[in-house]
Amino acid sequence: MAFHMKEEDLPDYEGQEDPTDQKDDHKTSTRTNRFKESRIEGSSTIRASGFGDFLLKEELMKAIVECGFEHPSEVQHACIPQAVLGTDILCQAKSGMGKTAVFVLACCQLVDLSEHVVRVLILCHTRELAYQIQHEFMRLGKHIAGLKISAVYGGSPVDKDKEILTKSCPHILVGTPGRVLQLMRDNVLQVPQLTHFILDECDRCIDNLDLRRDIQQIFIRTPKKKQVMMFSATISSETREVCKKFMQTPHEITVESEAKLTLHGLLQYYVKLEEKHKVKKLVNMLDSLEFNQVVVFVRNVKRALALDKILRDSKFPSMTLHELPKGHEDKATPGDVIKANDSRIERFQAFKEFRKRILIATDLFGRGMDVERVNIVINFDMPGDSDMYLHRVGRAGRFGTKGLAVTLVATDVDNEVLDKVQDRFEVNIQEMPEKVDATSYLNA
Ligand code: AMP
Repeated sequence: MAFHMKEEDLPDYEGQEDPTDQKDDHKTSTRTNRFKESRIEGSSTIRASGFGDFLLKEELMKAIVECGFEHPSEVQHACIPQAVLGTDILCQAKSGMGKTAVFVLACCQLVDLSEHVVRVLILCHTRELAYQIQHEFMRLGKHIAGLKISAVYGGSPVDKDKEILTKSCPHILVGTPGRVLQLMRDNVLQVPQLTHFILDECDRCIDNLDLRRDIQQIFIRTPKKKQVMMFSATISSETREVCKKFMQTPHEITVESEAKLTLHGLLQYYVKLEEKHKVKKLVNMLDSLEFNQVVVFVRNVKRALALDKILRDSKFPSMTLHELPKGHEDKATPGDVIKANDSRIERFQAFKEFRKRILIATDLFGRGMDVERVNIVINFDMPGDSDMYLHRVGRAGRFGTKGLAVTLVATDVDNEVLDKVQDRFEVNIQEMPEKVDATSYLNA
């Protein structure tokens, strides 16, 4: 088995995110049990008071109980009371602490179901995230009679979207900007009665100029009077100003100062090594660490495919998630359960359903994705900047649970990013010891 992966061995295509896309998940109730059993003592995950304080509809309270949400998180405490009053909200809070439920609960509470028109539009940057948000609406909104929810995103047949929008128009529509705009331009989607406009991972959407342009085009087609809510873990002061242009005297909520954005339950290590030793180190870690599911981040698609092949050849249960390069569709290895040409959503589902335990991903998967069994993140390649580091490692240690993040550092540039992470955030990233005590990163 060759453990060396050289850049030049690999075909050359970049792991581009598809801005016309989007994510899912149907969360099982084990999430909540996990929260109950394994939240980190002393963290600020919860407060003493309950969801009852928010005076939500009975149908929502019933779903909250069924989801096993016992207490609102810090961000839910800070935002839900304002959100249900219809106030515009710009919210910065840690990854994985329940931001989605803020806008899902607020919108389900406020949505007017008297007509079959789109009242709530949620935009996000990937199809997987849109799929995940749609499922969170379905989970928390399931007892609200007549509530219709749909998601539209690139990579799925547009005709199907058109049929749904014309035949059975949803009250709540989640989508990626490219597809939503296309449907608007084709006059299939009109939103004159929209009352709520939500942007998730708003800094990503605003900082990417193509996405921003699409979002602006969509925004100008919505009525002036509406509630606007935007969320992310990382929002720079410049981006914050751009976001505020979409809002009217927004309630700005910063649940944690930037320095405190790292997760309490997450153990973080680095390993300094030469590029040529990375694969061997990864294999050693996968052999010795105890993981339920692990996400391995690499810098581009070609490296994801090459690394996946190496791991699968060594009988590791790995798969990839990224935008497939054109022409690669038929290159699936015989016997691979997850074929290379499966749609991204199907692949995402396969990972969520625990059909594979190792996901090799590009930054496409770095934000927002919530897979409850992921307890280890490995930065095989250093992320491009400190924000991305924060988002990536946030895939483990979600909702106050324990997790482990290991970053391989091979170059001076990698070192600079690591230093930046340590400078910006209150985090102690130490050199990985020979042996890591599993109880320090495994939930009880
Ligand atoms: P998010 O940050 O929105 O991706 O949420 C992270 C995970 O926490 C999701 O699986 C949510 O279903 C879950 N979650 C959200 N709010 C709560 C809560 N109050 N109690 C327990 N789990 C929650």
